[in-house]
Amino acid sequence: MSRAPEEKLNILGPGAQLDLCQQSDRPMPDGDGSAPGLARAEQRYHHGDVRRHITTAQHPGRGPIPVLRVLQTNACAKDCFYCPFRAGRSFRREAYRPEELARLTDELHRAGLIQGLFLSSGVVGHQDHSMGQIVATAEILRRRLGYTGFLHLKLMPGASEAAVEAAVRLADRISVNLEAPNAARLARLTGTKDINQDLVAPLRRAARVIRRLGRRVSQVTQFVVGAAGESDAEILDTTDRLYREVGLSRSYFSAFRPVPDTPLDGQPAEDPRRQHRLYQADFLMRQYGFSRADIPLDGGGNLSRGVDPKLAYARRHRDSFPLEVNRADREQLLRVPGLGPRAVEAILRARRAGPVRDAAQLRGLGIDAKRALPWLLLDGRAAPRQLTLAGLTEDESPDA
Ligand code: SF4
Repeated sequence: MSRAPEEKLNILGPGAQLDLCQQSDRPMPDGDGSAPGLARAEQRYHHGDVRRHITTAQHPGRGPIPVLRVLQTNACAKDCFYCPFRAGRSFRREAYRPEELARLTDELHRAGLIQGLFLSSGVVGHQDHSMGQIVATAEILRRRLGYTGFLHLKLMPGASEAAVEAAVRLADRISVNLEAPNAARLARLTGTKDINQDLVAPLRRAARVIRRLGRRVSQVTQFVVGAAGESDAEILDTTDRLYREVGLSRSYFSAFRPVPDTPLDGQPAEDPRRQHRLYQADFLMRQYGFSRADIPLDGGGNLSRGVDPKLAYARRHRDSFPLEVNRADREQLLRVPGLGPRAVEAILRARRAGPVRDAAQLRGLGIDAKRALPWLLLDGRAAPRQLTLAGLTEDESPDA
């Protein structure tokens, strides 16, 4: 017997939470129930407790927005060793028809519960068949129901150019999860995916289609960290290459956690600090002007777990510091621990009005002076605590 859409959400919603291809994945806080139609929608979806399937995603222009994350189906013909949906694993399979998922999304959107949809899927039959289901849902939403919300569509492994184009025409964001940084590592995670044909090729196709159509569609990917014995260097090398070659907007990193009754069941979970450090290194490459070669790694090609990579960089380049806050250029200031892009813009603006002379001025600009001062000169003078703080070893230091 076919299940109601809200009941299917309890099966197909949690699956999509495993995919981090969103800026943040906090559950939505309870709302005040004031949005039009909200009470009606909550009453209807009370059975499915719909809020559990709504998380926040980063919208390029609007910041964090509430997004429904759901799978078109949790059935899959692939065998990814870490994945709860892999072929042959015994659990309850379910699928949405495009019409019912589109209507569910539209209703939640009209009720003010969501502003976006993140739609992923297992692969059933030919990859373009699964893509077709995703695209059909998106088409009904956009063209028939007039949905104007954010739309993030997953591209299936090996998706053809035509399928990719159909998705790009409808989506605001698309993604293909690489999961591993290269062919050798991916071979330790699956016997049914080829990294170049199935994963990198759809990203390249999407980059071509986005350029040809002139659409503002972002591309993202995700890595499972720590499942294939890979180093941080391997992940960062691949990420860096994709930023340059296919215009990837960003990468997501998901620390491996073993799933019962999968081939990696007995493997230990990855330290979540590793995921955190990869995000920090990735930010340095995307927003702080660091090259891949600037990222400080140990002899095994890994980031320090105990120290922020930007602070580790500064410690390895002590001869470049302290920087005179009134003369250093934007790129130099972005290398100072504690100074992000907004802080640097604030300093540059303040300098136009006159020299920055003391820590109070920095604090007045909203800057965490305690972290930045050890690496700066203020109008030729070092802050009193400068030498003490800068002299700490990596393991003694606070995060920067
Ligand atoms: S393709 Fe792999 S990761 Fe994706 S749902 Fe299927 S088994 Fe899971």
